[in-house]
Amino acid sequence: MTTAPVPKSWISAIQAYVPGKSAGADGRPLIKLSANENPLGTSALALAARAEAVAPAAYPDPDSKALRAALGERHGIDPARIVMGTGSDEILHIAAQAYAGPGDEVIYVRYGFSVYDIAARRCGATPVVAPDADYGTDVDALLALVTERTRVVFVANPNNPTGSFLPRGEIARLHAGLPADVLVVLDQAYAEYLAPEDDDGALALAAAHNNVLVTRTFSKIYGLAGERIGWGTGAPGLIDALNRIRGPFNVTNSGQAMALAAVADQAFVTRAREHNAAERARFVAALEAMGNHGLRPLPSQANFVLVLFEGALSAETAYQALAEAGYIVRWLPNQGLPQALRITIGTSAQMDDVTAVLRRLTGAG
Ligand code: PMP
Repeated sequence: MTTAPVPKSWISAIQAYVPGKSAGADGRPLIKLSANENPLGTSALALAARAEAVAPAAYPDPDSKALRAALGERHGIDPARIVMGTGSDEILHIAAQAYAGPGDEVIYVRYGFSVYDIAARRCGATPVVAPDADYGTDVDALLALVTERTRVVFVANPNNPTGSFLPRGEIARLHAGLPADVLVVLDQAYAEYLAPEDDDGALALAAAHNNVLVTRTFSKIYGLAGERIGWGTGAPGLIDALNRIRGPFNVTNSGQAMALAAVADQAFVTRAREHNAAERARFVAALEAMGNHGLRPLPSQANFVLVLFEGALSAETAYQALAEAGYIVRWLPNQGLPQALRITIGTSAQMDDVTAVLRRLTGAG
C-alpha cells in the first residue's frame, strides 16, 4: 500500500485557472488576442528603466516604497494605504484568505473573473454565485444572496470576460446595501481603459470606508503583464492585514523599476487608451453589421470584446478558423460560455484581419 499526503478536500475541488494560449493545437505560435495584453507593448521609458534596476543578486525593496509613493501621488492616496502584489491576483487571493475561511461565504457574479472562485475555495470558504443580468452584474441579485456568513464580495469593474461595467451609482448602491463587516473587493484591472468621465467612484469609496478594497494592475494598460505587479488600496486596517500575509519580496527589482517609470509615462497610457477606444468602436461596429448572422458583441468598456455566436456559426468553428488564420482568441467553454469568444483589441491591422475572417465565415461579405 502506498500512502501520500492528501490535499484538503476543498483544494481538490478547485478547477485550475486556464490561461490564454499563445499557440494553436499543433503548437504553431499564433498572434495572441487571448490574454488582454497591450498591443502597443510597453512604455519605452519603462523598458529603459529595466536596465537601471537594482541588480538581481540583491533582494528587492520589500515594501516597494518608491513605487507606492509614485502611485500615491498619481492617485491622491496616502502610500500607507497601498499594498503591492505579485500581480493583482496575489491581492485577490490574500484578501479572501485574510477575511474568509471554512464556513464563510464569498459572493461573486456568474461570468465574473475566474480567479474569484479559486480565491474563495483555496481558503476553504464557500463560493456563492449571483445570477447575471444579460451577462452583466445585477446588484440586486447579488445583494439578495448576502447572509450572516458572507465575508467577501468580489466585483470586477469593468468585468472580465464580459466587458460589462457598473456606473458609479450602481457601485455606490452595492456598497450601501452590504453590511459594514463584509469586505467588498472592487477589481479595477481595466479601469485605465475607461474614459475619465466614466469613473466608477471605487477609489473614493476605498478612501472613505473601512470595508472597500480596490485592486489595480500593471498587466493591462501599462503593458507589464510579464513583470507581475498589482496593487490594492483601502483602509489602514485592511492594508495591515494584507501586508501580514503577502509574499515578503513580492515585487521584483525590475518590476519596481519598470512600474515606477511606467507610472511617470502617462503619455503612453493615454495613447493606449485612445488606441483601444478607437479600435474597439470600429470592431464592435463591424460585428454589429454581422448581427443578422447571429453575432452579438456585448458592450465593453475594457480592452476586449465578448462576442456571442447566436446563429448558425458557432464560437468553436470561429475559434478554429481564426487559429487557422494565425490568431488565438479566448474560447470560454470552461467558464460556461461555449457560445462566446473573448477577443482582445489588438493593432488596427490585426483587427482588420479578425474582422475579415468573421465576415468570410458568416458570409457577410
Ligand atoms: N482581475 C481581472 C478582472 C483580470 O482580468 C485579471 C487578469 N486576467 C486580473 C485581475 C489579474 O491580473 P494580474 O494578476 O496580472 O494583475
